Amino acid sequence: MGAVNLERLARHTNLPDAARRILSRPEKVLSQVLTLLTNGNEMLETSCHLVCHCTVRGPAKGGIRMASNVTLEETAILAELMTWKTALVGIPFGGGKSSIGLDPATLEPFQKTAVIKEYVHLHGAELLSGSYVPAPDLGTTARDMAIIYGETHRLESVTGKPPSVGGLPGRAEATGHGVALTARLAARELLGRDVQDLTVAVQGFGNVGSWACRFLDEAGARIVAITDSCGGIRNDDRLPIADIVAYAGQTRTVTGFNGDQIDSASLLAMDVDLLIPAAVENVLTEANASDVRASFIVEAANGPTTPQADAVLADRGIPVVPDILANSGGVVASYVEWRNAKSGSITSKRDTYATIADRQELAFRHVMDLSREKSIPLRLAAEIVACDELVNALQDRAWI
Ligand code: NAD
Repeated sequence: MGAVNLERLARHTNLPDAARRILSRPEKVLSQVLTLLTNGNEMLETSCHLVCHCTVRGPAKGGIRMASNVTLEETAILAELMTWKTALVGIPFGGGKSSIGLDPATLEPFQKTAVIKEYVHLHGAELLSGSYVPAPDLGTTARDMAIIYGETHRLESVTGKPPSVGGLPGRAEATGHGVALTARLAARELLGRDVQDLTVAVQGFGNVGSWACRFLDEAGARIVAITDSCGGIRNDDRLPIADIVAYAGQTRTVTGFNGDQIDSASLLAMDVDLLIPAAVENVLTEANASDVRASFIVEAANGPTTPQADAVLADRGIPVVPDILANSGGVVASYVEWRNAKSGSITSKRDTYATIADRQELAFRHVMDLSREKSIPLRLAAEIVACDELVNALQDRAWI
């Protein structure tokens, strides 16, 4: 099964059979072998996948994941999520993703640069035609995007670049900003309160998790626990986020910072108002969903909740604000960067935030209204809103 259960969706909205067939599998899959001779005549060899799931609404948009255990299946699921996400927030992109099966931590900076250049050689046709527009994802950074630009010489061929080469002020924090914004909207709608003193537990303190913590902390929420891949910390009063950001900037982990230790399994079961999974996929499963005690969940990571866990949480009345809504701030900012690259316009950080707020608030209202009107979970409501956009585009382009 893909990222979205199309059979279930078809029971709730207009999803013609032809549209269902198109959305049930990727349009294009490229799997290649990336080889590179490094210093010492050692040969690096790995798989390099590119998946364009659906481009009916625009070029396939999605990040480059670099990790030793990345698979084609995972890349395809992530590409599909981008199709639904871009449709939900109404930006003219389709869904794509690519991946390189190497652990970036094992590469010297010059080796990573060479790998990225080789990636461009493998996928030059897609990058130069603009049919796939990458951005950073796990394991890749703004620097890598600048290297891609250096190879294509086209600003619009890649987003998530540093501001010095056409990147957007505010892009680095865009996803976390959108997560915090969504959490604020959801707290108001679901709990009838603002985020002042809302207790929050966050799994993952990388780009998305750390920025979400900073924005929520600034808004008055109490972040009481954070974990990363090495461990975690907890303070039932309030963790000092600015100090932890500075500490993790030096040590690359939150572990060892003053406070009680906590692991991810305990964090996911904490009695808090809000739980934010902001690390990796499939952390909330059938096995631990019944332990969750948060009042609501905002999915900052892609796919952190398995379908089985989703069903358990729905039965227990714990609302889940889905990834395609909550973490869409990054792709909205990417859209602004891509538009600027094409038009020559420039945008301030304030404008970036305003565009994210505009797109996400509109999508949030649609999803919340539909969820209430039909008494359905937020994820299904979000899928219906996105599906209607996709079916319209498929009909308008005479694909169905
Ligand atoms: P990142 O690499 O910067 O951070 C990942 C964090 O998760 C790190 O703190 C890492 O230590 C932690 N982590 C990894 N495995 C863990 C585990 N088993 N338990 C606890 N912590 C663990 O990545 P990121 O860019 O912050 O992305 C996080 C998630 O958000 C991913 O699912 C990504 O696809 C999604 N996402 C990212 C963006 C973006 O703009 N960066 C946009 C949309 C979605």
